[in-house]
Amino acid sequence: MLRSVILAASRSSQVERLVATAPYTRDVVRRFVAGAATDDALRVTRGLIDDGLAVTLDHLGEDTVTSEQAVATRDEYLRLLKMLAEAGLTPAAEVSVKLSALGQMFDEQLAYDSVRAICAAADAAGTTVTLDMEDHTTTDSTLEVLGKLRKDFPSTGAVLQAYLRRTESDCRELSSAGSRVRLCKGAYKEPESVAYQSAREVDKSYVRCMNILMSGDGYPMLATHDPRMIAIGEDRARWFDRGADRFEFQMLFGIRPEEQARLAGEGYTVRTYVPYGDDWYGYLMRRLAERPANLVFFGRALMSKK
Ligand SMILES: Cc1cc2nc3c(=O)[nH]c(=O)nc-3n(C[C@H](O)[C@H](O)[C@H](O)COP(=O)(O)OP(=O)(O)OC[C@H]3O[C@@H](n4cnc5c(N)ncnc54)[C@H](O)[C@@H]3O)c2cc1C
Repeated sequence: MLRSVILAASRSSQVERLVATAPYTRDVVRRFVAGAATDDALRVTRGLIDDGLAVTLDHLGEDTVTSEQAVATRDEYLRLLKMLAEAGLTPAAEVSVKLSALGQMFDEQLAYDSVRAICAAADAAGTTVTLDMEDHTTTDSTLEVLGKLRKDFPSTGAVLQAYLRRTESDCRELSSAGSRVRLCKGAYKEPESVAYQSAREVDKSYVRCMNILMSGDGYPMLATHDPRMIAIGEDRARWFDRGADRFEFQMLFGIRPEEQARLAGEGYTVRTYVPYGDDWYGYLMRRLAERPANLVFFGRALMSKK
């Protein structure tokens, strides 16, 4: 219920204005977002890599509605990749891209040409791209784009969401050799017709999907903060004899940093998803919807008169 309200608020421009202008929003945002500028992204990336973590960078923005915005997003990724390579931060750092930020909703060709240019730039920089997954109405088109990109850039990563009923079957399709697949629970409000609704059902699906990916030939990327899912992931890694170069854990910047450090200390590959940029509202609201404790933290900061 609370999750639905917050996810509805994530689409409200009135709530967005209220949140964006509240005095201590900045402090909350800073906990989950590296900063507004490319230099902030680079600084945070360097720190994480120095601490033994890998990174995937996301330039914030989604549901782009003009070609100017879409082209600006593409250009930011091209700039970022060049700067990462020059700073010696590749291949430890890769990038995550949302097709909706590149104009997928109004100009599929523009979005495709842009993501292709980003993949080519990542390739030249010695790293890779992962295509973030958005709501279920975009799953087919995103997987179609993935298939086309992989012809020239086979290491392009996919994301599958365990809450969708179709995902076990997608895991089977995508567990071939070399296939990089991030498995997450899923962050959008989805109808019962396509998605499991209870946490228990989603968790069970996550484990089934993890079993398919970890026993397959691809490169699973287990994106979760859930202690139970992580423990099962560690168990499957032992069972299927997957070392640090054959799968990875992924978590979001600012969430369970001690656990990220612990896993890296145990010798696992751990990648931190680092968002940066001005357009943090939708991202932050999804994080709040996931965890009431974040909402309390956020509420306190909003009420603060300090
Ligand atoms: C690297 C990465 C990339 C992602 N990419 C996508 C994507 O492309 N598309 C998409 O739809 N979603 C994406 N997500 C979001 C994902 O789908 C989930 O919404 C999100 O990760 C929350 O699910 P969870 O598995 O962490 O566990 P949850 O079910 O949210 O939480 C389970 C348990 O984990 C622990 N936990 C969770 N959050 C915290 C916290 N803040 N502090 C302490 N403990 C905590 C608690 O014990 C909690 O009970 C991504 C997530 C990650 C980590």
